[in-house]
Amino acid sequence: MIWNQKRECMPRKELQAFQLEGLKWTVGRVYESVTFYRAKMDAIGLKPKHIKTLADVKHLPFMTKQDFRDNYPFNNFAVPKEKLVRIHASSGTTGKPTVVGYTAADLEMWTELMARIVCQAGVRPEDTAQIAFSYGLFTGAFGLHYGLERLGCAVVPIGGGNTEKQLMLMEDFGTTVLISTPSYALYLAERAAELGIDIQKRLKLRVGLFGSEPWTEEMRQQIQDRLHILATDNYGMSELIGPGVAGECESMAGMHIAEDHFLAETIDSESGEPLPCGAEGELVFTSLDKEALPVIRYRTKDISVLDDSPCACGRTHARMRKILGRSDDMLIIRGINIFPSQIEAVLLSTPGVGPHYQINVWRKNYLDDLEVLVEFTDDSMLDNYKKLDLLTTQLKERLHNVLGINVKLRLVEPHSIERTTLGKAKRVFDHRNDPK
Ligand code: ADP
Ligand code: ZN
Repeated sequence: MIWNQKRECMPRKELQAFQLEGLKWTVGRVYESVTFYRAKMDAIGLKPKHIKTLADVKHLPFMTKQDFRDNYPFNNFAVPKEKLVRIHASSGTTGKPTVVGYTAADLEMWTELMARIVCQAGVRPEDTAQIAFSYGLFTGAFGLHYGLERLGCAVVPIGGGNTEKQLMLMEDFGTTVLISTPSYALYLAERAAELGIDIQKRLKLRVGLFGSEPWTEEMRQQIQDRLHILATDNYGMSELIGPGVAGECESMAGMHIAEDHFLAETIDSESGEPLPCGAEGELVFTSLDKEALPVIRYRTKDISVLDDSPCACGRTHARMRKILGRSDDMLIIRGINIFPSQIEAVLLSTPGVGPHYQINVWRKNYLDDLEVLVEFTDDSMLDNYKKLDLLTTQLKERLHNVLGINVKLRLVEPHSIERTTLGKAKRVFDHRNDPK
């Protein structure tokens, strides 16, 4: 089932013409109404009329998270505040949050887009969908909520946390669709096992839409095996709209980008130069039809690869590969670039250790140390030093092969690493700049 055949299966030539219209409209509006961005364009002598083809997007200055901070709360909006019908904000772990606003037309666009996203993941009107994202300033829960309702599902807006109740309602309501972060999905499976709930027998879960934090294929496999669902990946961010920027179809061969609403590019993170389709780089998006908060060449810091080859599902929109990591998550340890996802992939494909882990980076005598904590799964290991030692050596070797450096590995007892039940999992702790 394709939610909007006309839009999602548009021949690429037609799609590009449609995108160009949107690009011109957006640049014109931003130049007229967003002071900080107009100043950026004026500084390089660029006028909206200079944008004649899609390729001209590369002449436009970037937007970054800093621009949102500098224009806090509403100065980067292109409409007067009276036109807003919703305001969200990102978690903003440091300083002021990033504020985003929606007009009525923006909310309608988002709702339609989310209906498309859930539909392409395989959700159907007869499904019952449980939303285990926290409702609030975070865009995730509301975005999915309205999209699922538009599709015609029965939505259970339980929100984040409350794991035992989640499991009870899942069973009692016959929930078939789960919406959560991937780390919470694993935690749900773990709690179910602890409570003696046979997921396959007592729950009816079928499809999961997961996202909002990075996760590897190995993590996907574990979620699928433990929860007995199809675990799809979905990508978005509040600055662009929230969830809905891209999502997997049932072919599970990359996430289709909503190219009728967003123009996607990849760039070299260091030089800012555009990269060809197929090359790994930082994702950059330009909105094509947003009213309240148009964004131009927003640098996401997320690293991925674009693919515009045809997909088996018939949709023509390009796909992006699973996020490899964020450029600001990349750890440089003794000169070597390491993404936490590389470590996750090794841990989750090694039998005998659990999916929960923590990465610490320390600096001692000017040398960086990478420490990985992971739980062993078999309680009896506690009394078997030989087995523990063997597993440690084996894991260290595998990590060394993949990362190219030695890591300090600590196998810890089951359940000793803190689980994240609300919001995004935090697994990396870089102590190099901690006050002494
Ligand atoms: P913030 O994290 O700044 O509060 P958001 O909640 O909007 O803002 O999060 C957006 C970020 O979350 C993205 O830039 C990306 O790093 C991450 N993210 C979202 N979905 C995914 C996904 N499916 N895979 C990997 N990372 C994701
Ligand atoms: Zn597809």
